[in-house]
Formats: sequence, C-alpha cells, structure tokens
Amino acid sequence: MILNPLPPSNSAPPPPSWYWSLPYAAVALFIATMATLLWLTHRQDAEEQRATLINDVLWMEQNLSFQFERNDAQLTQLGPALLSNGRPNATAEARIKQALDPESGLIRILWLDPNGRVRGSEPPYTDSHLVGEASGTFPSSSAYRLARSLGRPVYSDAYAVLDNQTQFEVHVPIFDGGRYLGSVVGVYSLNNMLGRQIPWWFSERYRVSVSNNLGTEIAAKSKVSPLSSLNYEIPFEPPGHGLTVNVTAYKSEVRWIPLLLMGSLGILGAAIVWSLWQLRRHMKRRQQAERALSAEHAFRKAMEDSLNTGMRARDLTGKITYVNPAFCRMVGWSAEELVGLMPPMPYWAPEALERTRAVHELVLGGNAPPQGMEIRLMRRNGERFDALLIEAPLIDSNGKHIGWMGSVVDVTEQKRAQELARQQQERLQATARLVTMGEMASTLAHELNQPLAAISSYNTGCLNMLGNGELPKKELTTILEKIGKQAQRAGQIIRRVHTFVRRSEPKFEAVDVNIILKEAVGLVEPDAERRGVLIELELEENLPCVHADPVMIEQVAVNLIRNGMDAMADNPRETRRLLIQTQQQSGMLLCSVADQGKGIPPEVAEKLFAPFFTTKAEGMGIGLNICRSIAELHRGRLSFENNPGGGTIFHFSLPIPP
Ligand code: ADP
Repeated sequence: MILNPLPPSNSAPPPPSWYWSLPYAAVALFIATMATLLWLTHRQDAEEQRATLINDVLWMEQNLSFQFERNDAQLTQLGPALLSNGRPNATAEARIKQALDPESGLIRILWLDPNGRVRGSEPPYTDSHLVGEASGTFPSSSAYRLARSLGRPVYSDAYAVLDNQTQFEVHVPIFDGGRYLGSVVGVYSLNNMLGRQIPWWFSERYRVSVSNNLGTEIAAKSKVSPLSSLNYEIPFEPPGHGLTVNVTAYKSEVRWIPLLLMGSLGILGAAIVWSLWQLRRHMKRRQQAERALSAEHAFRKAMEDSLNTGMRARDLTGKITYVNPAFCRMVGWSAEELVGLMPPMPYWAPEALERTRAVHELVLGGNAPPQGMEIRLMRRNGERFDALLIEAPLIDSNGKHIGWMGSVVDVTEQKRAQELARQQQERLQATARLVTMGEMASTLAHELNQPLAAISSYNTGCLNMLGNGELPKKELTTILEKIGKQAQRAGQIIRRVHTFVRRSEPKFEAVDVNIILKEAVGLVEPDAERRGVLIELELEENLPCVHADPVMIEQVAVNLIRNGMDAMADNPRETRRLLIQTQQQSGMLLCSVADQGKGIPPEVAEKLFAPFFTTKAEGMGIGLNICRSIAELHRGRLSFENNPGGGTIFHFSLPIPP
C-alpha cells in the first residue's frame, strides 16, 4: 500500500551465531599477541639485565684480581727490606704504610723468618701462636708451607675472627737468588675488602656477599636483602678455597615505556570489548524492536486487509494518498489506480457530482459533521451504492495536520434493511391498530348506535308531527338540528376510527398532548363505562405543544389506557380507577397513566417490551413494543414503575422543542 509508514517486512536475515564471536576472537587474539609481546619484551629486558649484571660482576672480579695482584707485587717488593737484618728502614716503612692503605684491603702485614716465626708486624702483632709452623692449627700454616714450596704467593682459607669479621691471608715467599729468606704475609679483612673495593654505584645496584664452600655467607657488603631474583655467582679466585662471590641485583629495572604502552593497549582492548558488548546489546535491542515493529506491521496490515470498512487518506489538497483493500473492493478500482488522483474521483456518481463535490469541500474545510455524511457513490461497473463517510483529520507523529482520513461504509444494504424494518413496523402498527379496533368494534357499534338511535327517534318524532299536520317551525328546527348533531357525532366517531386504523407515514406537527389524551379517552370511554372503570384526567394547563404525529401519540395513549383497564379487570368495582396526568419536567412533556391493577411481577417486567409477549388469552403482545418504538421515534421514552397505591404507572415522555 502507499503511504505506508512502516518498514518493509523483508528485513535482512539475522546474522549467524558465530557472527558476534568474531570481534571477540579478534580482540582475544589481539590481547594474546600483546601479552606475548609483553612477555618477550620482559624476557629480553631480563636477559639484558642479566648481561649487564654479568658484565658488572666480571668488571668487579677483574678489579679485585687487579688489586690482589698489586698487593702481591707490593708485598714481594717489601720482602727483602723487611727480612734483612735489623729494623726496616724508612723507605720500607713508607711502603708498608702505602700497602696498608685502606683501599688495598690489607689490614696487617707480617713478615716471617725462614722458620716461620713472626719477625715483625705492622700494625704490631705478637700473638705467635696464631702464625707459624709451630701452631699446626693455624689456618694459614698450610698456605705458608705451600707458598714456600711453590715459591709464589698463596692464599689461605678464610677464617673467622672476633666481631663477625672474616679474614684471609696471602703468603708471599721471599727468595734471594734461590735462598728462602722468609715470607711476607698480608692479612685481608674480607669485610673491609668488600667495603672498600666495591664502588658505590655497584653497591647501589647489587648486594655483594661472599660464601664459603659450605654455602654459608661469611661476609656481605649490605645487610639489606634484595627483592629481585636476578643474581650471579662466581668463584672468589683468589683467595679460592671454595669461596664464592654472590652478586644479586636489588631490583630489576622497570621499563616504563613498554609497560605504559602495554597498559594502554590493555585498556584499549578492554574498551573495545566493552564497546563491542554495548554495540551488540544495542543491535540486539534494535533487532528486537525491528521484529516487534515488523510483527506489528504484519498485524496492522492483516487488520487493514480484513477490515470491511473502506479507509481512504487524502492530503490537504484533496489528493488520495492511501486506500485500503476494502475501499478498493467497494469501488472496484485498485490502489495503484486511485492513489495520486485529484477530484473529481472516478467513483463519484455523475448525477450526485455537485453534492459529492460539496461534501468534499466541506471535508477539506474541516467542517465535516462528526457523525458522518451519507453520499451516493458509483462502483467501476456503474452500480450505485450509498456510503456513510466519516472524516477525521490525519495527524502525523509530529502532531502536524497532513490530511484527512476517511472511513467509508457501504450502507446500501443497511438502508434497505432499515426501510424493510420500517415498513414492517408500520404494518405491525397497522395490525395493532386493527386489533385494538377489533377489540373496540363492539363498543364502537354501541357508540354509533346511540346517535343513530337518537337520529332515528328524532326522525320518527318529525314524521309523527308531519303526519298530525302539525308543523311548528321552531320545534322542527330544533329536532333537525339535534338530528344533524347526532349525525355529526356519528361521522366524527367514524372519522376518528378511520384515521386511527389507516396506515400512513408519520406526520409530524405541533400537537397539544392534552387534546390528544382527551380524544383517546373519548375513544375508549364507552369500553371503560362497560367495564366500570373510572378514568380521571389531571392535565396541566397551558402545556407547550410538542412536535409529534398525533395519531401515533393517540395510539400510545389508547394502548396504555387499555392495558391499565385490563390490569384492573379483577378489581372490585370501586377500585377500578385510572388516572391520566400530564406535566412539564426538565424540557420534556411527561404523560403518565396510573392504574390500580395487579401490577407487573419481575419476570413479566423483563420481557414487557419484547414483541409478542403477552399474558392475556386474547392478547397479541405487540402493543408496548410499538408504543416504545413510537416514543423513540419521537426522541422520547417509555418507562414504567410500581404505583405506590398498587398497580403500575406508565410514563411516556416527549421532548419539548426549544
Ligand atoms: P397485550 O396487551 O396484547 O398483551 P402489550 O404489549 O400491550 O400486549 O402488553 C404486554 C404484557 O404486558 C401484557 O400481556 C401484560 O401482561 C403486561 N402489561 C402491560 N400493561 C400492564 C399494566 N398496566 N399492568 C399490568 N401488566 C401490564
């Protein structure tokens, strides 16, 4: 259809289930790659740091070896001067001082004679049981012997002394042309050595410790234990004897740039995953909304297609913008042919062109009556049909008036049915009148009898007078006048019956209800007299006229009066009273007929107005049904209530014209 605000129902098929996994897989791959890169960088960093550590350690080792060699050379040089007889000269003392420089690591120099006895010491040292061959327990004695036999400096094992200090010695044998003069012993403090020989920058980065051959730490540069596991161990050679130097980095160097890079990449990855997830949620909601929309569209289309009411939209210029299938079926033109057309439309009946155009203008001017208008339209095959057209403004989603929406109902059949019903109703009313007349026939005959009998007797009187030759003009005139009156009365009765029975279209005119009620009473009075019913009238004076069909109103009154009389048939004679009242009440003229009969039980009340419902042996059961139709035709009401004094009151109301 045209003017379709909904999307087409053939929307793209939903993506396969793996579709949404793809971005996650890509992000997972990305994160894995990043993690591998990070790990590789970290490993490379660790390797680089390890290489630096090894380099530094080798440098330190070289430094120490160099120091040891220098010390050895100095001690060798000092030897002859120290071991010659007599006290060491000033040069030798200056050299000793130089050798004992704290930077050298040496804390004492001893010199031994060829027998291994301490000949001197700087600083002075006399505890002979610690050094020399005599004390076999002296840890350096083996070094002493080895140095002497090998003829080169030999380092002793490390040994602990007081104050948690560890020392070791170097024994430098001194020869003079192959003759052993003695040995110069340099005592090293391991702790001093580490303290002095390791430069500040090295000890800032690393913790340096020395362990013995049992793996026990015997000296350390710092007491602070490092956090990192990056360490390197080399044999402490010299002095050897299984000593090792352990160098441990305090902390591995943190490389901030790759870390920051990786961190940002990680955050980026998380943001991508989050945004993907959000996107997916959004898409899912969108898909749901689309599905709902398309279901709604399908439902609305099905509804539109199944509608029997024609729908047609026009823009503000009167051009057709939309028609539903029912409208197309009704007029016989397709939607494609109709949409876009401007008046006059092909379905406007030529003979009603002017009126249809006027209706069209009325709609475009916004003056279409809300209850709709009936117009005559034409099908494609030329067949005419009556349509009820209800127009309403077409407002778009922004609240803008964009045209007119009209519903078109083919009321041809309905009108035909209404006409049929009206005719039937009329026939029914006529029948009811006939029935009422049948019931009244005997009383009417009696009623007619009276004027006829009177006429007859007046006539006989006249004839007698003529026969006797008496011709009193005055009396004759009176008698003839009376005859005339009686004839008029009979004629009136016959005319009234004739009008009552005749079937005719309703003829609305200004009517005085009081007069009609009196006439109705006049019609039923003979019957009432026969039944011993007293009819009382309490009619409000100066009532306004109503717009009504007098015969129909009279019919209602006669019906209500007769029903009231029937209801009192079993009453004692003195209680057979029927009260007819009229009054004006809130814009309506109210007329009531109150009897004192048996009343209406609830089971009867339910069906009272149903056609052909009766409780009487000879009743037809259509009286009240017709009375109500007449009341409704006059835009009035027919109702009933219990009479407080026993019996029933029927109320018949008619609108008073403004
Ligand atoms: P009918 O008089 O031919 O029976 P109506 O339609 O006039 O048909 O009345 C239907 C029924 O309503 C009556 O048979 C009667 O039972 C009941 N009815 C009508 N008027 C009265 C009344 N005033 N009092 C009691 N019953 C009534």
